[in-house]
Amino acid sequence: MPLGRVNILFSTFFVNTCILVTFLYITGLVSQRYKIRLHTLTHKVHWIGGALFGCYGIVIMYYSIPVGFNTIADLRHLAIVATATYIGGPAALMATLFICLGRLLLFGINTQAIVGAIFMLLAGLGCAVLSHLSWSRLPKLIMMNVFALGIIFCPLMINLKNLDDVLHVYPLQFFISMVGGCLLYLIAESINTSNELLLRLEHTSYTDHLTNLSNRRQLEFSLEEQLPQARQRHEHLSVLVLDIDHFKEVNDTYGHAAGDAVLRQLGQILMEKCRTNDVVTRSGGEEFTVLLPNCAFRQALRIANQILSGVNQYEFVLADGLILKVTVSIGVTTFPGTGEDISGAALLEQADKALYEAKKAGRNRVCSYEI
Ligand code: GH3
Ligand code: MG
Ligand code: MG
Repeated sequence: MPLGRVNILFSTFFVNTCILVTFLYITGLVSQRYKIRLHTLTHKVHWIGGALFGCYGIVIMYYSIPVGFNTIADLRHLAIVATATYIGGPAALMATLFICLGRLLLFGINTQAIVGAIFMLLAGLGCAVLSHLSWSRLPKLIMMNVFALGIIFCPLMINLKNLDDVLHVYPLQFFISMVGGCLLYLIAESINTSNELLLRLEHTSYTDHLTNLSNRRQLEFSLEEQLPQARQRHEHLSVLVLDIDHFKEVNDTYGHAAGDAVLRQLGQILMEKCRTNDVVTRSGGEEFTVLLPNCAFRQALRIANQILSGVNQYEFVLADGLILKVTVSIGVTTFPGTGEDISGAALLEQADKALYEAKKAGRNRVCSYEI
């Protein structure tokens, strides 16, 4: 084969690989933005992901090389292999459908194109089946790549009708596809790892490690979000601040681990008593704050009293089986109170003042800022 021809083949397949890797990177950024994780993919992600990778395959076709009459060679199958490996079988089928239709509709319907599309469909079906193998991702990706390349050999033979012509293209296509597949794996894995780490970091920076509730940072973040929303929608936003009564005595009598067990169980009670949209946080040592969006004062008072009686009835179980009773004091406030506009910090301060009143009045009670 002339050197010029090898150069064209090499650079075309190289461009194919680069396009796929670039798209993979963009997909990684999108999945980072929408917090998409490989082990919790929804049906919607399957269909959208499949369509997206199908489009990548179509773009790759625009960078293919004519290797015979109406016959082109490229690495579009890698888009299917990537979809099958990282998203799954249904998505791989969707990508295959896009690629086959793209081949026929955008590049003209002729015998060679139909042969190419039929064999690509077979490659897609095979990859969809192979995606169910319980192997780790690298061997699975290599297996699918080899399988798809094996299938691609057939339309090349049918369309070119001459083994010598096929051998002018196929070995280089095979080689670059294998290298491209490995590159694709390395990049996809690195994107996946960094996305996972970022999500974990985000989770830990907004979560209290002891109770698994949101922490103070999340509380401030949510307040910053909820207060303007309440203002804009003319809704109420209520805040509860809850503090365990004489908690120091629990620690002093039963030990710090017992105190931790009480904090954890109180977190569960709060989650049970609050509504799904409420933001339940452990805002300090033995202090919890709950944001109640779209919740008027009377309803907030009702929820606070339910929490109070819930805690009163609850038997806290320690690690050694010992049962403990604790009480809490709760401060309640609601925005807009008397109609004035206040900041998030001022709203928390109001709830704190109400809590202070509850402590002063003898603990184990709910007090509101209005009092
Ligand atoms: P009051 O009724 O006035 O609230 O009295 P109190 O004893 O609950 O309040 P105080 O502020 O005197 O003590 C709070 C205690 O909470 C002291 C501290 O050791 C304990 N504490 C803070 N964070 C944690 C924690 O993460 N685990 C445990 N076990 N205890 C904690
Ligand atoms: Mg306390
Ligand atoms: Mg306290």
